[in-house]
Amino acid sequence: MDKDWSEKNKRMQTLIGKEATFREGLEVLFELRSDLFGQVTSIVNTYPKEAFYQMPFAGADGYHSKTLAYSLWHIFRIEDIVAHTIIAGDEQILFTGDRLKRTCSPIITTGNELKGDKIAEFSKKLDVKELYGYCRAVMDSTDELLRSLEYKDLKRKFGEADKARVAESHCVSTDENAFWLIDFWCKKDIKGLIQMPFSRHWIMHIEAMRRIKNKLCRNARKGTDPIARCGLSCDHCFLKEWCGGCRTVYNTCSYATCSPGGVCPNASCCTEKGIDGCYECSELIGCRKGFYADGNDTNAIKAMALFIQKHGKKNMTAVLDKLHREHDFQKIQEILGNDLQEGLDILEKTL
Ligand code: SF4
Ligand code: SF4
Repeated sequence: MDKDWSEKNKRMQTLIGKEATFREGLEVLFELRSDLFGQVTSIVNTYPKEAFYQMPFAGADGYHSKTLAYSLWHIFRIEDIVAHTIIAGDEQILFTGDRLKRTCSPIITTGNELKGDKIAEFSKKLDVKELYGYCRAVMDSTDELLRSLEYKDLKRKFGEADKARVAESHCVSTDENAFWLIDFWCKKDIKGLIQMPFSRHWIMHIEAMRRIKNKLCRNARKGTDPIARCGLSCDHCFLKEWCGGCRTVYNTCSYATCSPGGVCPNASCCTEKGIDGCYECSELIGCRKGFYADGNDTNAIKAMALFIQKHGKKNMTAVLDKLHREHDFQKIQEILGNDLQEGLDILEKTL
């Protein structure tokens, strides 16, 4: 389990367990949920549509055997049902306005009853942007509900009437893989529900989503040119585990993800010019676009592009192999520094 998330989760549990630190514990819970939701936002904003219905671990034993879209639906359907039908006894977010219609979901259940290809088929039908809107609305509404709780509410228990209400809502399938959920939730008090599903359940599924997206990126990069358009080498990049590179639709490189529309300006400029990379561009040395705008920290990247311009990609790869054998570093800036000419000199001396 992610160390930060796991530690925050443990701290939250300890703090909410005592009246004196209950409020502080809730704040840690909101912080944890916000960190986790940040991961969801980054996936939704940067991954292509097709990523949401792929099952790169189909048949595996674990949450990572699902799809990204299914994971989102499942986490937030469960939270919506528990927060509204069980705890608050009011209307679920899914049934407010035309939300259900907008998500394009053919089901209202948690999805536990779906298996194999049915998960992919279901995921393909979902409108991911609308689904994301639903997820955010559920999170906000649960946070509000949690904020309204008093310490004494943590011991509140649920019974037969609550179970019947969930069953009658038809939001949990009668399939044996799903129906057990009603007993599972209603056996807990509110403190137990804060753990499952409001915190630990998120961690488990969002970690699985990380595995899915990283695998999709690794698969996408297979067989593509590992030299990125800016001059970096994806094979030597510390982000290669989760980045699909700028030559695939899984273009989730750190620079692309913070650029407008999630597209790296250097990659799009190369495409417009019909060139393979900035190293083929006559304007390279004076270019201040995208990744080269800083002109300081990113001079090392431009030095790599200039090196490729003079000596080719094969030599660049050989130099990087050598540098990684001889030094322990993550970012190439740590070796090449901030000066363009000095960076280029280091690369040429290593050749
Ligand atoms: S961040 Fe850039 S260099 Fe690193 S893997 Fe992604 S595209 Fe390649
Ligand atoms: S103008 Fe700049 S960003 Fe565009 S291809 Fe040339 S070097 Fe790359």
